[in-house]
Amino acid sequence: MNERDSEAVAAMLRDRGYSIVGHEKEADVVLLNTCAVRDQAEQKAIGKTGYLAKNKRTNPEFVIGILGCMAQNRGRELVDRLPDLDLLVGTQKFHRVPDHLDNIIASMKGRGPTPGTIVDLDEEEGSQNTIRAHNVEEPRVSAFVSIMQGCNMNCTFCIVPKTRGRERCRSITDIVEEIEEMAAAGTREVTLLGQIVNSYGRREIPFLNGKSPFVQLLEAVNEVKGIERIRFTSPHPRGFKQDLIEAYRDLPKLCEHVHLPLQSGSNRILRAMNRPYSRERYRQIIDDLRAIVPDMYFSTDIIVGFPGESAADFELTREFFEEIGFEMAYIFKYSVRTGTPAADLEDQVPQAVKEERNQILLQILAERSMVRNRSLIGTTQEVLVEGPARKGEGILAGRTRGNRKAVFPGDRDLAGKLVNLHIEGASVSTLRGILNPDTSDSKVDKSHLLAH
Ligand code: SAH
Repeated sequence: MNERDSEAVAAMLRDRGYSIVGHEKEADVVLLNTCAVRDQAEQKAIGKTGYLAKNKRTNPEFVIGILGCMAQNRGRELVDRLPDLDLLVGTQKFHRVPDHLDNIIASMKGRGPTPGTIVDLDEEEGSQNTIRAHNVEEPRVSAFVSIMQGCNMNCTFCIVPKTRGRERCRSITDIVEEIEEMAAAGTREVTLLGQIVNSYGRREIPFLNGKSPFVQLLEAVNEVKGIERIRFTSPHPRGFKQDLIEAYRDLPKLCEHVHLPLQSGSNRILRAMNRPYSRERYRQIIDDLRAIVPDMYFSTDIIVGFPGESAADFELTREFFEEIGFEMAYIFKYSVRTGTPAADLEDQVPQAVKEERNQILLQILAERSMVRNRSLIGTTQEVLVEGPARKGEGILAGRTRGNRKAVFPGDRDLAGKLVNLHIEGASVSTLRGILNPDTSDSKVDKSHLLAH
């Protein structure tokens, strides 16, 4: 979500005549978009701002700003701490950045009053509709689309409801229009973004033929010509209902990968986290999805070391994590977020224990991911080519429908195309393949999945 917000701000600035440079050293303006989910992310952003502010010594017109969740979370306290800061913009004001920057720059050039630090942290009605701009000149093959803002859940560990505000959704029409524009510019895959995507439109849009607003949105996006693949993140296990499960059967563009945050495999800890589901319910969702798509890929978010997590609780998580067999996971060490209910709980888990539990899950993940990737050696996989790989001359990179990264030798022109790769090798994170000459540029076809 932060990546998408940054991208939208960059696109708005480009439209305003700013150019985006390749490296911070070349920049006259640096805006740091920030995360507040863990303390470490905040500390990094504060450190980086202090470091960058030194540029003002050699370039008095250097502008530095902080955007996003940490700005919203810490507010003016950041200005006291970082007196060189020119701009502090919250999560509902990203679209105001171009105007603020113009004002700051005008005043630095002596054409306006000295503004001091501009602080813009208010709530704004309709702000969910403002994260919409893309760089259509250099479109992403695989792009994010923000479908809603905010969160109405009350997970006891989480700062997001404070930083992102109440849940607000965009209209289906507006989202589809944005995706049509992107498709026309060259985007082939979209990932729909929201804190809890399956609660999309719950208050605004009625059910239709038993289908939730989110599934209606998926159906509408599935109709967009030029879009070949649809993903979304993150759904919540609560509200992951039959209509959404059946969407994987009915919507050919919906990819066989589900990111479903689990957080813990212990029902006691899930209750303490105020996550309203049990491991049994979670397991049921996975089973129902596998019944429809046997080779579905799963990823998740886990927090280790939530206050009061005993060795027995962690053992339940470890065992469940192994049992499900996630191909990918973000494993977080619990980080105290001041102002959240869990911050005041006694029985905080020592850092060393969190570290150990983190390592145990990472190890299981690496093994599972390797086994799954190796099982693909010798098969043909449909890959959406994103562009040149980070390493290797003449090597392209893309992803399978299951969201596994794949690299292969090929011509740059293939960027944006679906190709069939014959998989010849695999590491934990990457598949290696060669183009399968007979079958490149395949149509989206899921019959091979249903035949299992
Ligand atoms: N709305 C999403 C979560 C967004 S935050 C959802 O409910 O699925 C992304 C992830 O950060 C969470 O899933 C959680 O695993 C992690 N996280 C959130 N707060 C955290 C904290 N205080 N410490 C460690 N990890 C945290």
